[in-house]
Amino acid sequence: MESQQLHNQLNVIFLPFPTPGHMIPMIDTARLFAKHGANVTIITTHANASTFQKSIDNDFNSGHPIKTQLIQFPSAQVGLPDGVENLKDATSPEIISKISRGISMLQDHIENLFQDLEPDCIVTDMCYPWTVESAAKLGIPRLYFYSSSYFSNCASYFVRNYRPHDSLVSDTQKFTIPCLPHTIEMTPFQLADWIRVKNSATSVFDVIFESEKRSYGTIYNSFHELESDYEKLGRTTIGIKSWSVGPVSAFTNNDDEKKDNKGHIGKEAEWLNWLNSKENESVLYVSFGSLTRLSHAQIVELAYGLENSSQNFIWVIRKKDKDEDGESFLEDFEERMKESKKGYIIWNWAPQILILDHPAIGGIVTHCGWNSILESLNVSLPMITWPMFAEQFYNEKLLVDVLKIGVPVGAKVNKFWLNTVEEEVVKREEIVKAVEILMGNGQEGKKMRMRARKFGDAAKRTIEKGGYSYNNLIQLLDELTSLKIARELEKSRLDN
Ligand code: UDP
Repeated sequence: MESQQLHNQLNVIFLPFPTPGHMIPMIDTARLFAKHGANVTIITTHANASTFQKSIDNDFNSGHPIKTQLIQFPSAQVGLPDGVENLKDATSPEIISKISRGISMLQDHIENLFQDLEPDCIVTDMCYPWTVESAAKLGIPRLYFYSSSYFSNCASYFVRNYRPHDSLVSDTQKFTIPCLPHTIEMTPFQLADWIRVKNSATSVFDVIFESEKRSYGTIYNSFHELESDYEKLGRTTIGIKSWSVGPVSAFTNNDDEKKDNKGHIGKEAEWLNWLNSKENESVLYVSFGSLTRLSHAQIVELAYGLENSSQNFIWVIRKKDKDEDGESFLEDFEERMKESKKGYIIWNWAPQILILDHPAIGGIVTHCGWNSILESLNVSLPMITWPMFAEQFYNEKLLVDVLKIGVPVGAKVNKFWLNTVEEEVVKREEIVKAVEILMGNGQEGKKMRMRARKFGDAAKRTIEKGGYSYNNLIQLLDELTSLKIARELEKSRLDN
């Protein structure tokens, strides 16, 4: 039977967390479910929906059963202007905490929706641990949506449980992460602060990880060919089922019009013309994802590093509040780059998938956000790794030590909105060195580019019919359908 017909009785709710790195892959996954026949409802707020509604409407008009269920973000109650509902819109830590408070105020409303919509399964972001109880009340499975690598989940698990860093005398000393199939060394400074020392955030994360164990299974936006050792280890370690169904952006972004829906395009024609004027694989794409905003000191070093390197570049810069120093420096820099045609700056938000797809791009400087990594691999790009916070330092280790497709720039400290301290700033010389290794003619760079191509080919194959990720998705939908049928049989047995 065609998968669409088999799954068309299945009602699945997706609950994304409003930050691009979590929301974008979940929306892509929701669209995939609907493509295979499941009836999908995405619960989200108005401003968040506006960033992807067009894709959902297109899918619906092509016959895929998918819709959004909109809820009102409590802007006035938390003191935010209308439309600031996503963490990427925060220009200060105060705004981040107001948005987070707004999100947590939605819990009751969402629970009521779960009851009204009568789902057969809920797929919810890791940041909603309370949905385990919601699913239990409804007698349905909760799938935990993890938007990073198996590797990072395993590494974090073993660091949290064995605390190898506790016995060190200094935060710059190295320790080896226990129980992993590769030798992975890190320093305590590269761990998230709530792992390094227990603080109020530690218990918040403990609840999240505990909720994973109590979930029916985990969906990963990853693929077997990329990290099979860690896929296996992740299953035995966490002790629940998991499905790698990625790279999900490659499933859904098969034409430019769809890629455009991921954010506003800005001066598309200009960047495109600029890239069109460059030779194949000659440009470095530089981005730190949707949340990181660099300090002025770091911006200066990066600007000179890029200017002094032998490569052209496109750099996406997200502005902070009250950064007058930064503004005049960057205006001068932008002007200089325009004249020399060496660099192109995109302010705040770039159409990343479109840019990465352009033949002129030859590599990326990345903060090691998992989506950016997968989006780069999809188009076979090797990376300069420059992790900033959260699990990004683990992802760097995967790229550099395991997959060997990344050149580390030498980031030392795990901190959100970092680099206010002089020693934490990555210097221009280190940036130039990494760029020359990655993009230059040396053997190391060539080998990395070859390996990245191999993973790019695997990423394309795995989502095609018969590929690992494709089969995993079908197997997951089949399993959810069987669970639904079993539940209904049990109900009618009890009714009779
Ligand atoms: N993104 C984008 N344009 C930008 C910045 C980010 O389209 O200017 C997208 C990017 O393609 C990716 C997501 O936002 O899909 C960022 O997720 P990632 O995991 O890479 O990093 P995070 O933002 O969560 O740190």
